[in-house]
Amino acid sequence: MFDKILIANRGEIALRVIRACREMGIASVAVHSTADADAMHVRMADETICIGPAPSSESYLSPAAIISACEVTGAQAIHPGYGFLSENARFVQMVEDHGLTFIGPTAEHIRVMGDKITAKDTMKALGVPCVPGSDGGVPDLETAKQVGRDIGYPVIIKATAGGGGRGMKVAASEAEMERAFQTARAEGKAAFGNDEVYIEKYLQKPRHIEIQVFGDGKGKAVHLGERDCSLQRRHQKVFEEAPGPCITPEERARIGKVCADAVAKINYTGAGTIEFLYEDGEFYFIEMNTRLQVEHPVTEAIFGVDLVREQIRVASGMDLSFGQDELEINGHAIEVRINAERLPTFAPCPGKITQYHAPGGLGVRMDSALYQGYSIPPYYDSLIGKLIVHGRDRNEALSRLDRALGELIVDGVDTTLPLFSALLQEKDILTGNYSIHWLEKWLASKLADA
Ligand code: ADP
Repeated sequence: MFDKILIANRGEIALRVIRACREMGIASVAVHSTADADAMHVRMADETICIGPAPSSESYLSPAAIISACEVTGAQAIHPGYGFLSENARFVQMVEDHGLTFIGPTAEHIRVMGDKITAKDTMKALGVPCVPGSDGGVPDLETAKQVGRDIGYPVIIKATAGGGGRGMKVAASEAEMERAFQTARAEGKAAFGNDEVYIEKYLQKPRHIEIQVFGDGKGKAVHLGERDCSLQRRHQKVFEEAPGPCITPEERARIGKVCADAVAKINYTGAGTIEFLYEDGEFYFIEMNTRLQVEHPVTEAIFGVDLVREQIRVASGMDLSFGQDELEINGHAIEVRINAERLPTFAPCPGKITQYHAPGGLGVRMDSALYQGYSIPPYYDSLIGKLIVHGRDRNEALSRLDRALGELIVDGVDTTLPLFSALLQEKDILTGNYSIHWLEKWLASKLADA
């Protein structure tokens, strides 16, 4: 086992990893930019090191700065959290070349899954069901129109290098194809330096269902059921739950086994998430994330496992601490993502926290790096906390969420908290009857009423 782990991240996820390290008796190193000198992850770690100025390109996203920090502090392994360098195959290669351990999959697995066309081809070959669409990349507008005619409109044009909801455009008919095709290409080029795109059938009312998998890198893998992350704004998740309200135990066992077998076959190491759209009882693969997800706590809650601890164990060469038959679902969990953003525009709203009180009690977990007097810097993601509740069943989890939201105080900046209290008034949310389009439609109707 490692003696010291460096956490190449900030905010709540850095705290999450520090906590796992501490429970395992491993020393933690926090890295920070000059803008984060007063951040909670810096206060909580065993050691800290400044790695550069405020812009993430010169600090949290700088492979050289992170690797030098390992050398200076003597850390043997790097936990990347999510975002930043967590899915950067070149960085992982550098880490491996320096004789350090990356807590995650190999550079090769990240490369394969990071390119959506290659990922889809790989998954298809492993027996995972995919969304009907173009056979690989679509080189020009004429081919794009032909694909549209073949699979039928509406279609979605996606950048193969895309992520975070960028590089995706819907075309409802051939008339819209030119614009959608060019925009997706331009976004792919601008954001990811790659203008290759592919086309998929645009599903009308699917749910976003993702399967948590875990591989030991030695040919063994398990699944930890699904999360329903259908409530999204601009393809970004805001409310997640597990188990999925519409998934039966039989469906879970079937798709879970397909996913676990697929990652076992490629000797995958560590945590991964296989994302699907789910419509009329069918699962369609869209992408795989080769890292810990923001929403991993809902899975931890219902299975009673520590996924970060498991990541660290597996990275150090140990076996998984549980087998598939030991994994049993207990109750229901919901997570809401709290952002420092001003409603109804969701404009980022950094600033000083004048008052903070976290909710508590049975079945309540608050993962946040906030504290009273903290100034949220304007340079990074606006996620400031995640509230996770766990109950014996979905109704209990919903009441607990309502109760916990009532206790939570975040003053000084605008947050997305009012959104969640409003959602808990909606019948569709209470019954679990929503697709990936529900939230956008609901937000539009609220704006129209205002
Ligand atoms: P990203 O990597 O940017 O997150 P994904 O491929 O995971 O992109 O897709 C993100 C979201 O976009 C999905 O959760 C879903 O809401 C929507 N989406 C993606 N593909 C389709 C599709 N074929 N039909 C309908 N919606 C889609």
